[in-house]
Amino acid sequence: MQNYPALHSVDPEIAELVAKEEQRQREKIRLIPSENYVSKAVLEASGTVLQNKYSEGYAQKRYYEGQQFIDRIEELAVARCKSLFGIAHANVQPYSGSPANLAIYLAFCKPGDTIMGMALPAGGHLTHGWSVSITGKFFRSVAYGVGKKTGRVDLDEVRELAKRERPKLLWCGGTAIPRTIDFSGFASIAKEVGAILVADIAHIAGLIAGGAHPSPVGHAEVISTTTHKTLRGPRGGMLMCNQEHASLIDKAVFPGLQGGPHNQTTAGIAVALKEAEAPEFKKYAHAIVENARALAAELQSRGYDLVSGGTDNHLILVDLTNKNIPGKKAARALDRAGMELNYNTVPFDPRKPFDPSGIRLGTPAVTSRGMGVAEMKKIGEFVDRGIQAAIKEDEAALDHIFAEVKQLTQHFSAPGL
Ligand SMILES: *Cc1c(COP(=O)(O)O)cnc(C)c1O
Repeated sequence: MQNYPALHSVDPEIAELVAKEEQRQREKIRLIPSENYVSKAVLEASGTVLQNKYSEGYAQKRYYEGQQFIDRIEELAVARCKSLFGIAHANVQPYSGSPANLAIYLAFCKPGDTIMGMALPAGGHLTHGWSVSITGKFFRSVAYGVGKKTGRVDLDEVRELAKRERPKLLWCGGTAIPRTIDFSGFASIAKEVGAILVADIAHIAGLIAGGAHPSPVGHAEVISTTTHKTLRGPRGGMLMCNQEHASLIDKAVFPGLQGGPHNQTTAGIAVALKEAEAPEFKKYAHAIVENARALAAELQSRGYDLVSGGTDNHLILVDLTNKNIPGKKAARALDRAGMELNYNTVPFDPRKPFDPSGIRLGTPAVTSRGMGVAEMKKIGEFVDRGIQAAIKEDEAALDHIFAEVKQLTQHFSAPGL
């Protein structure tokens, strides 16, 4: 358990809640594919006195004095990002993934311009032009989906739509895509229609860094990512591009969209990027995928219907229609049984987004705990038993599963806790 003596004496109420959250993260099997456990080093770096400093601008070009050490920290983060992904330019200041994406619109579009992204219900992200997002309100957004039978993006359909609509920006990537993204296929479409291809690798940045997913570098003109998902850093965002777009991107982030960067987060990102350069991180990235495949196979052997028929990455999307239980009911029950995941729309979902047909799960966090294929089989069994218990509304069975979950998780210490 972390010790926060000052917090305990100043605000015991918050200290207690933080302690409970830590216990929850320790006991449960955390299967939300966008979540992870950061290392103790990342936690320490993100909680430093860097919090106290204002640094509007970029290294060597700041609007406030006293940047001798902050500049060095940001320069290290930028250099590590460029080296890890093999790219000419990086901006590590975006507050998170959504502001990073908004900066891209600001860099390349005027309000009302046409942009194109994957539809949210098909697996895209809100910020790729979905109607409720600022990106769907301020721009004219057109969306591509996935094939009904395949559950995968059909590039011929994307090309046809792009040729008809001529978007300024073409987004690839998303939040519920269980398959490899064909960056070069998207790039050739973008080239054909004169669009700028943006690869949003928020979910898969760690897999790309570790060589377990192809890289968009050399295909996408702009790359956007969060730092806190598979990359295992603090909550933040990064933008990458070639030299040609460097100045546009930097100006869009600051002064276009944001004020001072969060220096404590920049330090945490620098540490996470250093960790991601290490050989163990490559093993980690490949183990995430191996674990996802094993968990997917176990679920399939128990009669679960996986969107696209499986997974190539860290993520599994289950359509529960054939099990006669809605996603939300299943997710709630599994949470009670000690397995944290989220309900999710599936492509062509006949149900409403707030009560959809599917659940989404993934292996980044459990893999960070050192769990392997044997544990994935066990987790597949727990999930299945949890869903059976949910169907019967057997709360005692759910509580019994949670006890077994705790038996398992106590053998796998989590980074940072
Ligand atoms: C998570 C995510 C984002 C948004 O990141 P936040 O940090 O939550 O703002 C953007 N794009 C994709 C594809 C994501 O998965």
